Amino acid sequence: MRFPALALLLLPAICPAEDLRWFKGNTHTHSLWSDGNDFPDMISAWYKERGYDFLAMSDHNTLNAGEKWVTEASVEKKKIALGLKVLDKYRAKFGADWVETRTNDQGETEVKLKTLEEYRRKLEEPGKFLLVQAEEVSAGFGKAPIHINAVNLAEVIQPKKDVETIRETLRQNLRLIAEEAARTGRPVIAHVNHPNFRWALTADDLAHVVEDRFFEIYNGHPMIYPDGEPSRVDSDHERIWDIANTIRIAELKQPPLYGVGTDDSHNYHGGSSTPGRGWVMVRAAKLEANTLIEAMQRGDFYASTGVTLEDVAYDKAARTLRLKIQGKPGVKYRTEFRGTLKNYDRAVVEVDAPAEDPQPKRLKHGADIGKVLASSDSLEPTYTLTGDELYVRAIIISDQVMENPAQPGYLQKAWTQPVGW
Ligand SMILES: [Zn+2]
Ligand SMILES: [Zn+2]
Repeated sequence: MRFPALALLLLPAICPAEDLRWFKGNTHTHSLWSDGNDFPDMISAWYKERGYDFLAMSDHNTLNAGEKWVTEASVEKKKIALGLKVLDKYRAKFGADWVETRTNDQGETEVKLKTLEEYRRKLEEPGKFLLVQAEEVSAGFGKAPIHINAVNLAEVIQPKKDVETIRETLRQNLRLIAEEAARTGRPVIAHVNHPNFRWALTADDLAHVVEDRFFEIYNGHPMIYPDGEPSRVDSDHERIWDIANTIRIAELKQPPLYGVGTDDSHNYHGGSSTPGRGWVMVRAAKLEANTLIEAMQRGDFYASTGVTLEDVAYDKAARTLRLKIQGKPGVKYRTEFRGTLKNYDRAVVEVDAPAEDPQPKRLKHGADIGKVLASSDSLEPTYTLTGDELYVRAIIISDQVMENPAQPGYLQKAWTQPVGW
């Protein structure tokens, strides 16, 4: 920690800054409890062995709880690459005694899925690895998938589908999650997932559904299109984030969105929706679910596809954002400080979307939104706000392609949260 005093200013921390640590985690993962293709304990072990501190298994509309059996045939059918049988890999990893099987009425072998409570006893280690209960609350409006990850949930949430409009469907499901958090007294974050999956959500949707506080600036699934698509105006993730933040702060007097990075992994034996692509780094005093969630609610985290930051500190009094990048030998980094000035041009143009999209029209916003206000090649870039900005955020872009990219050539990056609003 190089800037303890500044970190303290950023954080109304209850402990000295030197006790804070960065914890690496993924909050969006699928297993055989829904449409993922491996056992949740196998997937959790994969993350643990690669140095992740926490993982949230977020299956569609279910917790990893209760009794669920799957046939061996269905498990093998979901596998993509040839090679060892999934069940053999499972037995090799945890031992034959751990794997429970039975024969059903049709004479097929079935395997019992471990519940989170069962596999967390095997895999969790205090201070080293934590499993956080989650669900991908998977609703939809017509052909628009509306998926929200609820992280640190206590009870399963049944989504509400097709409620009046896309925005109202989003809102009602976010309210269900907030109501559960209030009822159980446990902090929960809800992040709206993959706006460009089937072109379901626009920047204006994310701006106006102010119940939302988090969205996926990066999602490792190959059908997510983080760079957008030219026939859908303002569909680039960076534009979506900046437009939503600008409208929220300037027009709606609401806080901006925070950006998370996730895997949304489904395939663990080859395939294209694989783990290890996007994650969050959360700064907290201890590896404990409520503590991590509260740090994320304060905005004390960043999203990454490979760039590591040693420090992110916003000094409110000096209005200065300081970063310290953990440089790797031979790698170049460029930091862009992006934001919108208060006098931005608010004019919009309505543009037709492709006929197959769930949204017939999209709004094209002006070039004043999300401008690069400054850039730096330093490992310790800083930006001091002039007072004209609605907010500023940083994106750190390395010259290295990420490992196993979902989109060819996608670079290792990190995104910090908006400040100065
Ligand atoms: Zn989804
Ligand atoms: Zn998902």
